[in-house]
Amino acid sequence: MDLTLSPAQLELQARARRYVTDVLQPLEVEFERAGGTLAPEIGRGLRKAAIAANLHGGSFPSELGGQGWSALDQVLVHEQLGQVTGGLWSYIPGPYNALIHCDPDQRRRYFDPSMRGERSGSYAVTEDGAGSDPRTLASTAIRDASTGEYVLNGEKWFVTGPDDTDFMIFHCNVVDGERRLPTLFLVDYDLPGVTKKHDPDYMHTFADRHPQFLLEDVRVPATAVLGTVGAADELTNEWFVEERIHIGARCSGAMERLLELAVGWATERVQFGQRIYDFQGVSFPLADSAADASAARLLTREAAWLVDAGEDPKVVHAKASLAKLFASEAAFRCADRVVQVFGGRGYMREFAAERFFRELRVDRIWEGTSEIQRLIIARALEKRGVGRVVGQG
Ligand SMILES: Cc1cc2nc3c(=O)[nH]c(=O)nc-3n(C[C@H](O)[C@H](O)[C@H](O)COP(=O)(O)OP(=O)(O)OC[C@H]3O[C@@H](n4cnc5c(N)ncnc54)[C@H](O)[C@@H]3O)c2cc1C
Repeated sequence: MDLTLSPAQLELQARARRYVTDVLQPLEVEFERAGGTLAPEIGRGLRKAAIAANLHGGSFPSELGGQGWSALDQVLVHEQLGQVTGGLWSYIPGPYNALIHCDPDQRRRYFDPSMRGERSGSYAVTEDGAGSDPRTLASTAIRDASTGEYVLNGEKWFVTGPDDTDFMIFHCNVVDGERRLPTLFLVDYDLPGVTKKHDPDYMHTFADRHPQFLLEDVRVPATAVLGTVGAADELTNEWFVEERIHIGARCSGAMERLLELAVGWATERVQFGQRIYDFQGVSFPLADSAADASAARLLTREAAWLVDAGEDPKVVHAKASLAKLFASEAAFRCADRVVQVFGGRGYMREFAAERFFRELRVDRIWEGTSEIQRLIIARALEKRGVGRVVGQG
């Protein structure tokens, strides 16, 4: 494995860092105090600045308006994005990777405007009764033989997206006699029968909301199918694997910022006549956090490197779970330690440590909980062999 960064990767890393430090981080406290909202013109400005910095649509090829980044390039950028609180990075335009399967008309209506920051989509899989086990999804699509349309029904939870999200990728089962064919549909929020049922607040103060949606007899044409009928599990799995690696990268970045802040503070702060950093009760947890941060970064970059090397997707799946599991658990430990090192200030919302402590908690839950990552890893140990999971693929 060669993880040497090329001059182009170093430039990309520096560019992403500048966007984070110069554009996003200065807004963090104001955003937190406003309860997670930004004036629309500021949001538009963030999107414009991301496009000007060529940070939008990173994973998509340049002929589709993206940046053509490798998996490792994406990780380098997400390591930087993880250093901002409030999930403000979600203002960077970019369609979900499943939209690569858009046909030309869908590309014009959904993909291209998402790339330009003019539309935002969500990806609705989870339901009230189906979380960790998506095999029990109850949402359905039934073909109306007289019109050729599909009639969609279902209730979706945690449908994540910024305030102005206006369409969803709806994961449901096409009912075909006895058969259930998992399928993705593109559904505009303003279609008759689509209702935002509840928009709860969460532990974090985030740029994205996570409302619940009800779809009642929503009629869509057959051209609303994304990809093909029956392909949803495969497409959603691609999203999970990519997103787990990105979570690993953002958690690594969060740990780096937490450590920078904690070391800066502890080497300045004096109690009992000496720097608190000189108390091992303060510096040793930071040393443990440095070990956590370094291990998380390596695991995540390794998973990305394996993707780029064309490794067996089943091994990549396990490696992505290893990275996500370790990095998300480590980042939460690290945030807890850094809150402690800041003392009472660590409990104040205007200090980044407090915000990270709340925000990093969800990384152990979404895109598959830590327990589900352990299930994937345990199965891979048995099926692929310890050497391929723990070694280099
Ligand atoms: C802020 C937020 C944003 C989200 N965004 C989205 C989104 O955009 N789109 C989307 O579709 N979903 C989204 N989700 C949903 C998220 O993916 C689910 O919450 C997650 O997969 C867990 O499902 P659940 O909440 O139903 O918990 P459950 O599946 O009910 O699990 C409850 C507990 O049981 C444990 N458990 C379950 N099965 C097993 C098992 N086999 N072995 C051991 N333990 C097990 C779990 O680990 C967990 O601790 C989001 C969630 C949150 C909190």
